[in-house]
Amino acid sequence: EETRQLLLSRIRDVADYPEPGVMFKDITPLLADPGAFRALTTALADDCRRMGATKIVGLEARGFILAAPVAVTAGIGFIPVRKAGKLPGATLSQSYELEYGTAEVEVHAEDLAAGDRVAVIDDVLATGGTALAAVELIRRAGAEVAGVSVLMELGFLDGRARLEKMLHGAPLGAL
Ligand code: IMP
Repeated sequence: EETRQLLLSRIRDVADYPEPGVMFKDITPLLADPGAFRALTTALADDCRRMGATKIVGLEARGFILAAPVAVTAGIGFIPVRKAGKLPGATLSQSYELEYGTAEVEVHAEDLAAGDRVAVIDDVLATGGTALAAVELIRRAGAEVAGVSVLMELGFLDGRARLEKMLHGAPLGAL
């Protein structure tokens, strides 16, 4: 609980970003505070161990910043899920709906396989669309989703409900 309060105190609300009417959760103050960043890394690495994860997927771009130290701390591999067109090798790709239009994410096909238990890490869960696309990619690669951990979820959207339906009992952790 103390850790939770520390972390929450390091997230800044920015009004009307990136558009009027949106309250953006900015994690840069947390990243700039090594004590808070370490506490978050430790907490997420504990989540991954509890899930029995054998690999960690980070979601571009802020998810990379969190997932990389978690992977090193937990002693398991880091796998990037990137926006389309950034990965040089053979990829699986998954498109998903945005508020306006669609987006596409990709993973190197050879990075995930049957027998892997994969934890997904990102900073913020909003509609759940990005995390769901990652879940699809992991399953299409033949691997299992061990769970999803985010720093925070925006409770006024139905991201949790939407994602939990697809997690089949795997945990969805948030601050
Ligand atoms: P979703 O796909 O609607 O759940 O949106 C989640 C994605 O958008 C994550 O990759 C987040 O990094 C990003 N995102 C959405 N809202 C915020 C925010 O308020 N702060 C930081 N990132 C956000």
